[in-house]
Amino acid sequence: MVNLKFLQRSFLMDKRIVIIGASLSGLYTALALSSKNIKSILIEKNKIIAENINDGRAIALSFGSMQIIKSMNLWHELEKCAGRIEKIKVSEKSTLLNFAHQDAMGFIVEGHNLLKTALVKVKQDPNITLLDNSTYELITNQPDLAQIKINDTLYQPELIIAADGKFSNLRDLCNIKTKEHDYKQSCIITKIEHELPHNNTAYEIFCPSGPFALLPLKDPYQSGIVWTESNQLVKTLIELPEEKLLYFLSKNFEKILGKGKLLTKPSFYPLKLIMAQEYYCYNIVLVGDAAHSIHPIAGQGFNLGLQDIDLLCNLINQANQLGMRLSNPSILEQYQDIRKKTNRRMAIFTDGINKLFSNNLYSISLLRQFGLSTLEQTPFFKKMFVKYAMAEISK
Ligand SMILES: Cc1cc2nc3c(=O)[nH]c(=O)nc-3n(C[C@H](O)[C@H](O)[C@H](O)COP(=O)(O)OP(=O)(O)OC[C@H]3O[C@@H](n4cnc5c(N)ncnc54)[C@H](O)[C@@H]3O)c2cc1C
Repeated sequence: MVNLKFLQRSFLMDKRIVIIGASLSGLYTALALSSKNIKSILIEKNKIIAENINDGRAIALSFGSMQIIKSMNLWHELEKCAGRIEKIKVSEKSTLLNFAHQDAMGFIVEGHNLLKTALVKVKQDPNITLLDNSTYELITNQPDLAQIKINDTLYQPELIIAADGKFSNLRDLCNIKTKEHDYKQSCIITKIEHELPHNNTAYEIFCPSGPFALLPLKDPYQSGIVWTESNQLVKTLIELPEEKLLYFLSKNFEKILGKGKLLTKPSFYPLKLIMAQEYYCYNIVLVGDAAHSIHPIAGQGFNLGLQDIDLLCNLINQANQLGMRLSNPSILEQYQDIRKKTNRRMAIFTDGINKLFSNNLYSISLLRQFGLSTLEQTPFFKKMFVKYAMAEISK
């Protein structure tokens, strides 16, 4: 008689990498590894039902992120549902700052499309074994030995990748410390249809207590909204009947896009900065929000995650080709060294912008308007900003 458990074990043993968490970072890590012909097991605690994926965020992807996704052979699918950012307009009161570039500076893809497109590919990929509705127990993690029990079966992978989000359990099991800051703010997210075309323009409007972003979707008459406000106000706003909430939202978008209606039920996300102090511990390495969860004011969280994934998978590939253990400390140290600096820089940048633009003091407001109009008249800085937004100089 065939020993099923033995068969299952030998089938999974050729996967030298286990990834924990099958949301954006986990799915895209598995695909990046597979594009280099490296096999992995992807573990998700929740049951994944494609039709139920309902991430209402409009995710801004930089030009650099698009190129990373292209290398996973996924962009041709995502492009079908991606809006283009050709212009960015930043405003406060009457001050306006304009950015434009002959190519798209970035793209807007709805979160559910990013997830579903990756999920379809993962399910078809013989290099990836997706185990959803699954539990794991870390048995040991010491130099050159990791043991992890997944659904009661013991595995001994060379590397475990923690893609389990900002409250990462694996990070805690490794005793990796974090630096945290509660913004006491939340974002309201929704999608609207509007009278006037968005002309591929993203708007960042600085309102008295927080920024309000309009992100152009593929349909010229649809935009994503990300509205940052204090936790207290968001709590009140989100409980309003939809037509009342639409009234408050319209105050910010109607002058630009005309009358609008809600296409999705508004949801909200409380905001907290969480930065891991180390990115690896022996055979466990952190990617995405498990390593850094930053303020979404500049729409950079997943862009940083994709840069983590790109670098880590390239280093793993090099180690693999040299016949090295995939958790060799020299590659993980290199990964940590490079990614920690960039991620920290972006965390400081977004933190600073949020502080500057979520402050209603008269003096700060004057300073902001002075800064914006000075920037508007300085082509060099504007060019630098566009390059940064496109993630050409962020690595
Ligand atoms: C309002 C808002 C707007 C944003 N806009 C942008 C934007 O425009 N551009 C951009 O680049 N980024 C943006 N971001 C950031 C981006 O959404 C995140 O960086 C990204 O979603 C993080 O994905 P992740 O996979 O790392 O983590 P998560 O999405 O948190 O996924 C973690 C996964 O791990 C699973 N998991 C957790 N614990 C376990 C366990 N014990 N066992 C198995 N599985 C487990 C979870 O179920 C989940 O599926 C935004 C964020 C917010 C809040």
